[in-house]
Amino acid sequence: MIEEPIDVPVEVVAVGAHPDDVELGVGGTLAKLAHSGIRTGIIDLTNAEPTPKNVKYRSPDDFDADYAANRMAEAQEAARILGVERITLDLPNRRLFDDFEARCKVATVFRKWRPKIVITMYGKTLMASPDHNQAQLITESAIFYSRLTKWDKYFNNLPVHRVKSLLYFPVRFIDLHPEGHTSFLVDISNFVDLKERAIMSYKSQGFVPSSGGQSLVSPFPALLLNWNRNLGSRVGVEYAEHLVSPVPLRCDDFSYFLNK
Ligand SMILES: [Zn+2]
Repeated sequence: MIEEPIDVPVEVVAVGAHPDDVELGVGGTLAKLAHSGIRTGIIDLTNAEPTPKNVKYRSPDDFDADYAANRMAEAQEAARILGVERITLDLPNRRLFDDFEARCKVATVFRKWRPKIVITMYGKTLMASPDHNQAQLITESAIFYSRLTKWDKYFNNLPVHRVKSLLYFPVRFIDLHPEGHTSFLVDISNFVDLKERAIMSYKSQGFVPSSGGQSLVSPFPALLLNWNRNLGSRVGVEYAEHLVSPVPLRCDDFSYFLNK
């Protein structure tokens, strides 16, 4: 198979294990970037099926094509709300591993979309899906595979592409200073409504709006938005999202430190 890179690069690409991972972690940041005119995208490594949320399932391996199709429609609606592109790969949910096939599939999208910045999940969700940590490992490796020369045959003959920056969104809320990484908070106050609407598009996952507050089927979005508010309060804004850089950040403009 021979593919060509797209004409207009997707400059910022966020990678998650499942549809909704990226919205929950950096939905506000992506909406902010997209609305500033930067072409932005999401790669889901799996379609997150099967899921125990489908009450018709009797065993963990049941599959309901209609339910899965509906979930993909929810994911596309979330992307539309944020103003971003989205591709959902066919890697296996719950059996996601950092292996050669997974690395090549993600690197193929990098070579096709040519992002300058890649954002992915950071850390382990202990007692929850191990796919999240695997998504981090796969993405880190795919960034390397994307720029390897003389290996195009593994990437639909797409030419090499060098990603400039890797950023993470930590999945453990409490960990504001992951060891060895540089934290920064992004003001998403003007985009938190879009973030919440994008999350709420996943109706199949039992998310209901936080505005009512008390009757949440799944309390996770409300807890998350409270965390975003907590982060915002630390830097003098209403809502913020936490990202980290594995390398030090350069800062020549001290206006932030002078004016905060
Ligand atoms: Zn997930």
